[in-house]
This record gives sequence, structure tokens and C-alpha cells, in this order.
Amino acid sequence: MKREGVTVKPGEEVTHEAVGLLSDYIKINTSNPPGNEAEAAKFFAEIFDKEGIEYKTYESKPGRVSLRACIKGTGQNKPLILLNHMDVAPAQSEEWSFDPFGGEVKDGFIHGRGALDMKSQGIMELLAFLHISRERITPNRDLIFLAVADEEEGGTWGVKYLLEHHCDDFQAGLVLNEGGFGVIGLIPNSPLMMISTAEKGLCWLKLHVSGPPGHGSMPHGENALEKLIQALNRLTVADQPVTVTPIVAEYFKQLGAAWEFLGPFLKDGQPETLAQIIQGSGLLAMPPISAIVRNTISVTSMNAGAKANVIPTRAEAVLDIRLLPGQDPQKIIEGVKEKLADGNIKIESVSVNRATESPWDTEAFRLIREVLLAHFPQAIVTPSLLFGSSDSRFFRDRGVPTYGVCPILVTMDDARMLHGIDEKISVENLTAGTMVFTDLVRRLVTT
Ligand SMILES: [Zn+2]
Repeated sequence: MKREGVTVKPGEEVTHEAVGLLSDYIKINTSNPPGNEAEAAKFFAEIFDKEGIEYKTYESKPGRVSLRACIKGTGQNKPLILLNHMDVAPAQSEEWSFDPFGGEVKDGFIHGRGALDMKSQGIMELLAFLHISRERITPNRDLIFLAVADEEEGGTWGVKYLLEHHCDDFQAGLVLNEGGFGVIGLIPNSPLMMISTAEKGLCWLKLHVSGPPGHGSMPHGENALEKLIQALNRLTVADQPVTVTPIVAEYFKQLGAAWEFLGPFLKDGQPETLAQIIQGSGLLAMPPISAIVRNTISVTSMNAGAKANVIPTRAEAVLDIRLLPGQDPQKIIEGVKEKLADGNIKIESVSVNRATESPWDTEAFRLIREVLLAHFPQAIVTPSLLFGSSDSRFFRDRGVPTYGVCPILVTMDDARMLHGIDEKISVENLTAGTMVFTDLVRRLVTT
């Protein structure tokens, strides 16, 4: 499809269409809270109207809309869902060097909130979906484009709602979502293409302490805030142990080709050997590596006191704990309690879910790997563990293999733009990524 004012060379149609669409999509402010995904759903609905594709919308509460479009297949395989979230993390425009909702295309980049997380992938999925329709390909399975609300705030009004209230519309044999991408600069001479097959669990705890009041000039030793600080220090002072899970062992097995120091692990394949190498190699100084081999604890919020000379009677803190696959949140909470070592601290569970995993020894995974290698012949392709969380967990909880795949190449530095400032994606990444994603979807619905 041509966009006005753009010269389109043969074979480059997808290129220009992706850029214009992403720019327009970024201009719709879907900061969550409040989300306001209804506007973004309208953006997709208008496109599907033009293309003559049926769709359905779901309003979980006013303004919170998700959209599902479907191309009917032969039913040979269970449906494939292309999942993407329309909401974005909030952006403080005064911190940015351009308008986060301007969708500006300049110097080879498309600028704005969502350029990476994940409006760009939403557009790649859309164009891959439209390709199947425009080329009149009859897929061997229903192909579903699913743009959802509320991922950034936990998915309650998005995927969670859809699966609880309309689960018949979302039966699937495979889901593709965010969570995987290609990293350059981590290993020498090769991009590392990660297909996320698992993500860590989450355990948000609120700690409450109370104590007697008093004047700041006369400490009585029972200061609630001081008690909380001391307990938090006991909790966070020691490093969490390194645990090698099967997914991480596989990840390092793939990396072994590039990192010589992994040699002893490649030879004996023992998790203990890998744990020793990780501990002795300085890798733990890299937060993304540390996060995939440990449970992590971050103190993310504290609240106490109102006046300089008043000892507060209450103090609160919030912990963001992330759990490796196979860990029992209840046991982790017990461990936290033990380390805090203060019976007066009340622990409230705010949000708790286990890590989720999909197998990587599947036909679909092999096909994804094959397509990525065809387009990135130098790459190392590996299953990976996402240390954050995404909507994938809801589908994995229902036993649907769900993979995070985004065929773009970013540096470790670029990853800071996610939920950070000055988020952007290169035109090259978007257009090449769209081609690869289109190829991938075509293969998945015709093979
Ligand atoms: Zn995201």
C-alpha cells in the first residue's frame, strides 16, 4: 500500500508503510495509567475496515478496549495469536529531548514513547497479518491479531480480563508476543537473538511497622522508621545465591560458542560448573546477567514521617522481588520474614505470581529459529529468560506455548530507553524487522 507523498520502489512497500503507521500510532497517547486504549483500538479498527477484515472489540471498563481481528484458516493447526499491548509507560515530556507523543521521523529514527515497547512490534505484527490477507493466503490455522489494553499495569483490564471473560475467542496453539530481541555488542562479531520462552515470577510485598510516638529530640529506641531501615539492611546486605535453571543452562550453552571461558561448562554440562564460572568471571556485575541467575530483591518505595522533629508511629516499604523459574513464592516470603528478623513487621502480599515457562523443543520454536537464522546468518539464536514480566504469563498459565520474538537489533544501552527517556527505533530496524516478522508469520501459517 502506498502512503501519500512517499516514493515507493518495488519491493519496498512494507518499509514505508511501517514508518508512517508507527509514527501515527505513537501520536495516540496511551500512557497507562490511565491507558485510554480505546483510541488506539480505533486506529486499528479503521485499518481493518479499509482492508475488509472482521474484528471484535472488548471493553473491560470505560476507555479500556482490546481488539481481536481474525483471518480464518483451514483448522489444520490450532490458532496463532499475534499479541501486542497498546498501552505504554508514562513519559514526563520535560525530561525528553523531543515530544514523546510527536511520532517524529527524523535522522533515520522514529521517535516517541512506545517506539520500542511495544508499538513498533504491534505494527510489525499488523503488517505481517495484513500480508496474509492481501496475498490471499489461506492459513493452515486461524491467524489472530490481538492488540490489548493494560499490560503496563499488570494486564487486569487486558489479557487477564479477556481470558477470564471471553476465553473461547482466545484458544490458541501458539502465541507470539514481546520479550525477545536481538542484542549487538554483547558477544563478539555476532548478534544474540533471544527468543523469550520464560519469564521470572513476581512478588510485591508491602512491609508495615508501627511504634510509639515521640519527640525527635528524645530517641526512645522504638522508632518505627529506624526499625524498618535496620530490618531492610539485614534483608538486602547479603547477595542472593546463584541458581542455574534449565533455561539459563541452555542460554549459556548457546553462548558458549562465543565466550571461551564457558568451555568447562560446555564440556561437562553440569549446572554447578556453570554457577562457578558465573561467580568467578565478573558476569554478575552485569545486571541483566545477574537477574537471570538469581532471585532479586529491590526496595522500591518507603513512606514514613511528616515532620523533622516527630518520631513517626508508622513506616512502610515496598519490595519488588523477582523469582526464578521453579521457585515457590511462599517459601521466598518465609525467607524474607526470616531475614527481616523483626516480629513487629507485618508483611502484606500485594501481587504474587510464579515464573512461567514454555518448552523450546517444539516445532514452532525450531521454525522461529530457522527464520531468524535465515535473516541473521551470523546470529546466535537462543531461548531466553525475561527478567521482567509480560502478558505471556497468562497464556503460559493456560498451557499455550508463548514466545517473545522481536526481530530487531539493539545494544544493551538501547534497552535503557524502555520505560526511560528519548525512546526511539531506527527506520532500518523497523522496516527490516517488519520483513522478518512477515516472513516468520507466513511460515508459521503455511508450514
Ligand atoms: Zn511491553
